[in-house]
Amino acid sequence: MCGIIGYIGGENSAGKLATGLKNLEYRGYDSAGIALIEDGVDVYKQEGTIDDLRIPSAKAQLGIGHTRWSTHGKPTDENAHPHTDCTGDVAVVHNGIIANYQDLKAELPGHVFKSNTDTEVIPHLIEEQLTTGAELLPAVKRVLSRLEGSFAIAVAHAETDGIIVARQDSPLVVGHDVDEMYVGSDVTAFIDYTKRVSYLHDGDIAHITSDGFEVFNDGERVDRPVETVDWDASSAGKAGYDHYMHKEIHEQPNALRQALSGRIDTLAGEVDLDVSLEDEVFTQCEHVQVVACGTSYHAGLCAKRLIESVTDVPVTVTIASEYEVHDGFDPDTTIAIAITQSGETADTLAAIRTAIGYGMTTMAITNTVGSTVTREVDETVHINAGPEIGVAATKTFLSQVATATLFAVFLGRKRETITASEATTILESLRSLPSAVQEILDDERQIRKLAHEYADGDSFFFIGRKAGHAVALESALKLKEISYDHAEGFAAGELKHGPLALVTPRTPVMAILTEGTAPAETLNNVKEVESRGAPVIGLSSNGTAQSFCDHVIDVPEIGLLEPFAANVALQLFAYHVAKTKGRNIDKPRNLAKSVTVD
Ligand code: GLU
Repeated sequence: MCGIIGYIGGENSAGKLATGLKNLEYRGYDSAGIALIEDGVDVYKQEGTIDDLRIPSAKAQLGIGHTRWSTHGKPTDENAHPHTDCTGDVAVVHNGIIANYQDLKAELPGHVFKSNTDTEVIPHLIEEQLTTGAELLPAVKRVLSRLEGSFAIAVAHAETDGIIVARQDSPLVVGHDVDEMYVGSDVTAFIDYTKRVSYLHDGDIAHITSDGFEVFNDGERVDRPVETVDWDASSAGKAGYDHYMHKEIHEQPNALRQALSGRIDTLAGEVDLDVSLEDEVFTQCEHVQVVACGTSYHAGLCAKRLIESVTDVPVTVTIASEYEVHDGFDPDTTIAIAITQSGETADTLAAIRTAIGYGMTTMAITNTVGSTVTREVDETVHINAGPEIGVAATKTFLSQVATATLFAVFLGRKRETITASEATTILESLRSLPSAVQEILDDERQIRKLAHEYADGDSFFFIGRKAGHAVALESALKLKEISYDHAEGFAAGELKHGPLALVTPRTPVMAILTEGTAPAETLNNVKEVESRGAPVIGLSSNGTAQSFCDHVIDVPEIGLLEPFAANVALQLFAYHVAKTKGRNIDKPRNLAKSVTVD
């Protein structure tokens, strides 16, 4: 999720790692650290910024570094990477999540753990392998075969030449220079030194030495060609994208995989959210109250649909600044859930504190480990989307929705309101979401073309029913935020109760017509706007839109969660409209990422 840098070659590894960490800063992080291999392994790490990190002027020729965005364990000095084994000879940095770390930890009874991270099992497992006499490379290979989840890792050892790196659903790039080699989460990490790179693939494990690298996949030696990137250092921070928002839109397949990692057993129809609340809280719950703002509020509306479709629990979703508690409900059987990307949103904190004051059980769905909300509620479920820098939320929205889906299934199974096989169907749809999103991203040219065609519309309408309504609201918000154009999301059936008066040939209408959005009914509303001359872009999965809309964006057929794949197409639409207009996309006027004032 955050950043890895590794270097081997000349004497200035400390300096090169420091530059690499600085270059990775754009990804966001809460702690940083490096390990230098000289006469043994020396680790320097702490919570806070890279500028605070004391980086020595050692002459080590090999080192690894890390910027951390906590997923397991708060941002503290102990939890910062690199992590070491009991001997102190093995150092590991890791991005992502080791989903089965608790099971693996249970297999390591004699080992002393110094952190609360999932990562720390890796050096200890490697240590176990080394004590059997294995060399470092086969030792790491064996450990990798035990790890579940998505990760990129770099391993260094006090007495072994080179760095061992591996990736699974998390990026890793190798940099080549004369007698010097680099590894980074992206090219940015070492762009100051070399533009010659090799991209590792999922399942790759590489042994990097100062004069080259060997890559293996599935036990076979594989070639990863050396390519030359043509970015300069200034554009590298966005990994080749023009804007963070664009990069984050494209990160969504991975972000979703992280949100699901280790949490679902599709076959058994079970969800494990690793919550410590008693089962009775969920089985006796009579009411769920969601509080949230902005995009998170729209995720809350999706959560309501999802929870109510698989449980017998009514859900109210309230804009946090409007939250009030009325008599006539029992706080003992109410769960209040705060949805907030930053965990610091003032309005949401105020609302959840009201719920706490009434004695409700409280939960948070957030992206930020250790944030204020997580310290105040009874239980937190992290969305694990990785840092989001663009002010307009994209990947955090989708990860919030995915996490809400997990919670819905979790609650439904606890209350036995859905069967295992019904849960399996939903989880299969959820599991298909990352690749469906990827298909939409691969179709970006078509969406960009539509955005160019309609960018000068007077006003943009987004219509949908059920989950499609929530997606319509969110898509309109996205367009407003970054293009400064007027855009509104409507429940499709509401058009005729007023908004239809605004429809002209200059109001493009995006209609969400996927599974789970009552498309047949929405088509009637498509006809209403078309007969007033409005151009319609339909998003559908099974050709519903073909004969009725001016343009069709195909959404992969994945069942229940199709509307959320459609949302990605509309994020791209908003992005390209805003780009055409030359807007300040990552920092739209008047808006801030984390709204800590009420
Ligand atoms: N899961 C690891 C941790 O919480 C790595 C997080 C990251 O990708 O930075 O330390």
